[in-house]
Amino acid sequence: MIKGKIHSFESFGTVDGPGIRYVIFMQGCPLRCIYCHNPDTWSFSTFSEDKASDLNFAENVLKEYNVEEIINVLKRYKGYFSKSGGGVTVSGGEPLMQLDFLIELFKSCRSEGIHTTLDTSGYTPVLATIQNILANDIQPEVKAHLLKLNELMKYTDLVLLDIKHIDSEGHKEITGVDNVSTLNFLMLLQKKNIPVWLRYVVIPNITDNIEFIKRLKLLADSYANVERVELLPFHKMGEFKWEKLNLRYTLKNTPAFPDEQLNQLKEFL
Ligand code: SF4
Repeated sequence: MIKGKIHSFESFGTVDGPGIRYVIFMQGCPLRCIYCHNPDTWSFSTFSEDKASDLNFAENVLKEYNVEEIINVLKRYKGYFSKSGGGVTVSGGEPLMQLDFLIELFKSCRSEGIHTTLDTSGYTPVLATIQNILANDIQPEVKAHLLKLNELMKYTDLVLLDIKHIDSEGHKEITGVDNVSTLNFLMLLQKKNIPVWLRYVVIPNITDNIEFIKRLKLLADSYANVERVELLPFHKMGEFKWEKLNLRYTLKNTPAFPDEQLNQLKEFL
Protein backbone atom coordinates (compact mmCIF):
# COMPACT_ATOMS: atom_id res chain seq x y z
CA MET A 1 0.00 0.00 0.00
CA ILE A 2 1.26 3.45 -0.95
CA LYS A 3 2.62 5.55 1.93
CA GLY A 4 2.45 9.29 2.42
CA LYS A 5 5.31 11.34 3.81
CA ILE A 6 3.72 13.33 6.57
CA HIS A 7 5.20 16.17 8.53
CA SER A 8 2.66 16.40 11.35
CA PHE A 9 -0.98 16.35 12.41
CA GLU A 10 -3.32 18.78 14.14
CA SER A 11 -6.38 17.14 15.63
CA PHE A 12 -8.71 20.09 16.29
CA GLY A 13 -8.05 22.63 13.55
CA THR A 14 -10.63 25.39 13.20
CA VAL A 15 -9.15 27.67 10.53
CA ASP A 16 -8.54 25.36 7.58
CA GLY A 17 -12.03 24.77 6.23
CA PRO A 18 -15.48 24.43 7.79
CA GLY A 19 -16.11 23.00 11.27
CA ILE A 20 -13.59 21.03 13.28
CA ARG A 21 -10.83 19.70 11.05
CA TYR A 22 -8.23 17.00 11.44
CA VAL A 23 -5.34 18.62 9.58
CA ILE A 24 -2.62 16.57 7.94
CA PHE A 25 0.55 18.47 6.98
CA MET A 26 2.32 16.69 4.14
CA GLN A 27 6.09 16.71 3.83
CA GLY A 28 7.73 18.30 0.79
CA CYS A 29 7.18 21.56 -1.10
CA PRO A 30 8.80 22.80 -4.30
CA LEU A 31 8.01 26.46 -3.54
CA ARG A 32 9.99 28.78 -1.30
CA CYS A 33 7.51 31.39 -0.09
CA ILE A 34 9.28 34.21 1.66
CA TYR A 35 6.74 34.18 4.50
CA CYS A 36 6.40 30.39 4.84
CA HIS A 37 5.67 29.47 8.44
CA ASN A 38 6.45 25.80 7.80
CA PRO A 39 9.90 25.76 6.12
CA ASP A 40 10.48 22.47 7.95
CA THR A 41 8.00 20.91 5.48
CA TRP A 42 10.07 21.84 2.41
CA SER A 43 12.41 18.88 2.31
CA PHE A 44 11.13 15.85 0.40
CA SER A 45 13.10 13.53 2.62
CA THR A 46 11.96 13.26 6.17
CA PHE A 47 14.09 14.41 9.09
CA SER A 48 15.23 11.85 11.60
CA GLU A 49 13.41 12.01 14.94
CA ASP A 50 16.64 13.22 16.58
CA LYS A 51 16.92 16.06 14.14
CA ALA A 52 13.23 16.94 14.60
CA SER A 53 13.61 17.07 18.33
CA ASP A 54 16.82 19.07 17.97
CA LEU A 55 14.86 21.57 15.91
CA ASN A 56 12.21 21.64 18.62
CA PHE A 57 9.42 20.72 16.21
CA ALA A 58 6.30 18.75 17.13
CA GLU A 59 6.75 15.25 18.53
CA ASN A 60 4.57 13.42 16.03
CA VAL A 61 6.55 14.63 13.05
CA LEU A 62 8.04 13.33 9.85
CA LYS A 63 6.86 9.81 9.37
CA GLU A 64 5.39 7.68 6.64
CA TYR A 65 1.82 6.44 7.01
CA ASN A 66 -0.45 4.40 4.81
CA VAL A 67 -4.06 5.38 4.16
CA GLU A 68 -5.49 2.70 6.40
CA GLU A 69 -3.53 4.00 9.40
CA ILE A 70 -4.83 7.52 8.83
CA ILE A 71 -8.43 6.43 8.24
CA ASN A 72 -8.35 4.51 11.52
CA VAL A 73 -7.39 7.73 13.30
CA LEU A 74 -9.97 9.81 11.41
CA LYS A 75 -12.76 7.40 12.34
CA ARG A 76 -12.26 8.34 15.99
CA TYR A 77 -13.10 11.98 15.17
CA LYS A 78 -16.22 11.34 13.09
CA GLY A 79 -18.51 12.47 15.92
CA TYR A 80 -16.78 15.86 16.04
CA PHE A 81 -16.85 16.14 12.27
CA SER A 82 -20.56 15.46 11.96
CA LYS A 83 -21.55 17.77 14.84
CA SER A 84 -19.44 20.68 13.54
CA GLY A 85 -19.69 20.15 9.78
CA GLY A 86 -15.95 19.44 9.73
CA GLY A 87 -13.70 16.75 8.30
CA VAL A 88 -10.15 16.26 7.16
CA THR A 89 -7.91 18.95 5.63
CA VAL A 90 -4.72 17.99 3.87
CA SER A 91 -2.20 20.81 3.89
CA GLY A 92 1.56 21.07 3.68
CA GLY A 93 4.12 21.38 2.37
CA GLU A 94 2.41 20.92 -0.96
CA PRO A 95 -0.05 18.00 -0.94
CA LEU A 96 -0.22 17.83 -4.76
CA MET A 97 3.37 16.54 -4.70
CA GLN A 98 2.01 13.26 -3.30
CA LEU A 99 -0.90 12.90 -5.68
CA ASP A 100 -1.24 9.10 -5.67
CA PHE A 101 -1.38 8.99 -1.89
CA LEU A 102 -3.82 11.88 -1.78
CA ILE A 103 -6.20 10.22 -4.25
CA GLU A 104 -6.21 7.05 -2.20
CA LEU A 105 -6.73 8.95 1.04
CA PHE A 106 -9.59 11.12 -0.21
CA LYS A 107 -11.25 8.12 -1.88
CA SER A 108 -11.25 6.29 1.45
CA CYS A 109 -12.54 9.40 3.25
CA ARG A 110 -15.42 9.58 0.79
CA SER A 111 -16.31 5.94 1.51
CA GLU A 112 -16.29 6.79 5.23
CA GLY A 113 -18.45 9.89 4.74
CA ILE A 114 -15.64 12.21 5.85
CA HIS A 115 -15.61 15.70 4.28
CA THR A 116 -12.33 16.35 2.42
CA THR A 117 -10.55 19.67 2.02
CA LEU A 118 -7.34 20.24 0.10
CA ASP A 119 -5.21 23.22 1.14
CA THR A 120 -2.83 23.95 -1.73
CA SER A 121 -0.77 26.49 -3.65
CA GLY A 122 -2.08 24.86 -6.84
CA TYR A 123 1.48 24.27 -7.98
CA THR A 124 2.60 21.18 -9.84
CA PRO A 125 5.59 21.21 -12.21
CA VAL A 126 3.36 19.89 -15.03
CA LEU A 127 0.58 22.48 -14.63
CA ALA A 128 3.26 25.17 -14.59
CA THR A 129 4.26 24.31 -18.17
CA ILE A 130 0.82 24.51 -19.78
CA GLN A 131 -0.16 27.76 -21.37
CA ASN A 132 -3.72 26.70 -22.23
CA ILE A 133 -5.04 24.00 -19.97
CA LEU A 134 -8.29 23.71 -21.93
CA ALA A 135 -6.59 23.11 -25.30
CA ASN A 136 -7.03 19.75 -27.04
CA ASP A 137 -3.46 19.25 -28.28
CA ILE A 138 -1.83 18.62 -24.90
CA GLN A 139 1.05 16.16 -24.55
CA PRO A 140 0.40 12.59 -23.30
CA GLU A 141 2.38 13.14 -20.07
CA VAL A 142 0.33 16.25 -19.37
CA LYS A 143 -2.84 14.31 -20.11
CA ALA A 144 -1.78 11.60 -17.65
CA HIS A 145 -1.24 14.23 -14.96
CA LEU A 146 -4.61 15.85 -15.67
CA LEU A 147 -6.31 12.46 -15.39
CA LYS A 148 -4.84 12.07 -11.91
CA LEU A 149 -5.96 15.54 -10.90
CA ASN A 150 -9.45 14.76 -12.22
CA GLU A 151 -9.44 11.56 -10.20
CA LEU A 152 -8.50 13.51 -7.07
CA MET A 153 -11.29 16.00 -7.68
CA LYS A 154 -13.86 13.21 -7.69
CA TYR A 155 -13.26 12.85 -3.96
CA THR A 156 -12.50 16.46 -3.03
CA ASP A 157 -15.28 18.46 -1.34
CA LEU A 158 -13.49 21.79 -1.00
CA VAL A 159 -10.22 23.39 -2.07
CA LEU A 160 -8.48 26.18 -0.17
CA LEU A 161 -6.39 27.71 -2.93
CA ASP A 162 -3.59 30.14 -2.07
CA ILE A 163 -3.21 33.10 -4.36
CA LYS A 164 0.24 34.15 -3.22
CA HIS A 165 0.20 37.18 -5.49
CA ILE A 166 -2.32 38.21 -8.15
CA ASP A 167 0.48 39.41 -10.39
CA SER A 168 2.61 36.70 -11.99
CA GLU A 169 5.90 38.56 -11.47
CA GLY A 170 4.95 39.30 -7.87
CA HIS A 171 4.10 35.62 -7.42
CA LYS A 172 7.57 34.74 -8.63
CA GLU A 173 9.16 37.11 -6.17
CA ILE A 174 7.23 35.59 -3.28
CA THR A 175 7.40 31.91 -4.19
CA GLY A 176 10.12 31.46 -6.81
CA VAL A 177 7.59 30.50 -9.54
CA ASP A 178 4.98 32.39 -11.58
CA ASN A 179 1.26 31.85 -11.02
CA VAL A 180 0.53 29.88 -14.23
CA SER A 181 0.09 26.59 -12.38
CA THR A 182 -2.19 28.10 -9.73
CA LEU A 183 -4.46 29.69 -12.33
CA ASN A 184 -4.52 26.48 -14.39
CA PHE A 185 -5.53 24.57 -11.29
CA LEU A 186 -8.29 27.09 -10.58
CA MET A 187 -9.59 26.57 -14.12
CA LEU A 188 -9.64 22.80 -13.63
CA LEU A 189 -11.53 23.22 -10.37
CA GLN A 190 -14.11 25.36 -12.12
CA LYS A 191 -14.52 22.79 -14.88
CA LYS A 192 -15.26 20.15 -12.24
CA ASN A 193 -17.37 22.58 -10.22
CA ILE A 194 -15.36 22.05 -7.03
CA PRO A 195 -16.05 24.70 -4.37
CA VAL A 196 -13.02 26.92 -3.77
CA TRP A 197 -12.05 29.35 -1.03
CA LEU A 198 -9.28 31.62 -2.25
CA ARG A 199 -6.71 32.56 0.41
CA TYR A 200 -4.45 35.55 0.19
CA VAL A 201 -1.79 36.54 2.68
CA VAL A 202 -1.62 40.31 3.13
CA ILE A 203 2.01 41.38 3.59
CA PRO A 204 2.82 45.02 4.34
CA ASN A 205 4.21 46.78 1.25
CA ILE A 206 4.20 43.57 -0.79
CA THR A 207 0.64 42.32 -1.32
CA ASP A 208 -1.44 44.96 0.47
CA ASN A 209 -1.81 47.38 -2.45
CA ILE A 210 -5.51 48.08 -3.06
CA GLU A 211 -5.00 47.49 -6.80
CA PHE A 212 -3.94 43.91 -6.05
CA ILE A 213 -7.00 43.43 -3.86
CA LYS A 214 -9.23 44.76 -6.66
CA ARG A 215 -7.68 42.28 -9.09
CA LEU A 216 -8.12 39.49 -6.57
CA LYS A 217 -11.79 40.40 -6.32
CA LEU A 218 -12.10 40.41 -10.11
CA LEU A 219 -10.55 36.97 -10.26
CA ALA A 220 -12.89 35.65 -7.58
CA ASP A 221 -15.93 37.19 -9.27
CA SER A 222 -15.08 35.54 -12.57
CA TYR A 223 -15.21 32.02 -11.12
CA ALA A 224 -18.66 30.76 -10.14
CA ASN A 225 -17.14 28.03 -7.96
CA VAL A 226 -15.25 30.50 -5.73
CA GLU A 227 -17.38 30.65 -2.59
CA ARG A 228 -15.26 33.04 -0.57
CA VAL A 229 -12.01 34.93 -0.38
CA GLU A 230 -10.07 34.84 2.86
CA LEU A 231 -7.55 37.58 3.58
CA LEU A 232 -4.97 36.32 6.04
CA PRO A 233 -2.68 38.72 7.88
CA PHE A 234 1.06 38.19 7.50
CA HIS A 235 2.44 37.06 10.86
CA LYS A 236 5.85 36.07 12.15
CA MET A 237 5.07 32.89 14.02
CA GLY A 238 7.24 30.75 11.76
CA GLU A 239 10.28 33.01 11.87
CA PHE A 240 12.02 30.97 14.56
CA LYS A 241 11.98 27.92 12.28
CA TRP A 242 13.93 29.80 9.60
CA GLU A 243 16.54 30.60 12.19
CA LYS A 244 16.71 26.99 13.41
CA LEU A 245 17.13 25.77 9.85
CA ASN A 246 19.80 28.39 9.13
CA LEU A 247 17.68 29.96 6.40
CA ARG A 248 17.75 33.65 5.59
CA TYR A 249 14.45 35.27 6.52
CA THR A 250 14.06 38.36 4.33
CA LEU A 251 10.95 39.62 6.16
CA LYS A 252 12.76 40.11 9.45
CA ASN A 253 11.99 43.83 9.49
CA THR A 254 8.48 43.50 8.12
CA PRO A 255 5.85 43.89 10.85
CA ALA A 256 2.77 41.68 11.19
CA PHE A 257 -0.17 43.06 9.22
CA PRO A 258 -2.34 45.28 11.47
CA ASP A 259 -5.89 44.04 12.25
CA GLU A 260 -7.48 47.40 11.57
CA GLN A 261 -6.10 47.61 8.05
CA LEU A 262 -7.01 44.01 7.42
CA ASN A 263 -10.61 44.74 8.41
CA GLN A 264 -10.70 47.65 5.97
CA LEU A 265 -9.53 45.40 3.14
CA LYS A 266 -12.08 42.78 4.15
CA GLU A 267 -14.82 45.43 4.07
CA PHE A 268 -13.70 46.39 0.59
CA LEU A 269 -13.89 42.80 -0.58
S1 SF4 B 1 3.53 26.66 -0.60
FE1 SF4 B 1 3.13 26.63 1.62
S2 SF4 B 1 4.63 25.18 2.45
FE2 SF4 B 1 5.31 25.70 0.39
S3 SF4 B 1 6.76 27.36 0.71
FE3 SF4 B 1 4.76 28.28 0.30
S4 SF4 B 1 3.84 28.63 2.31
FE4 SF4 B 1 5.54 27.19 2.58
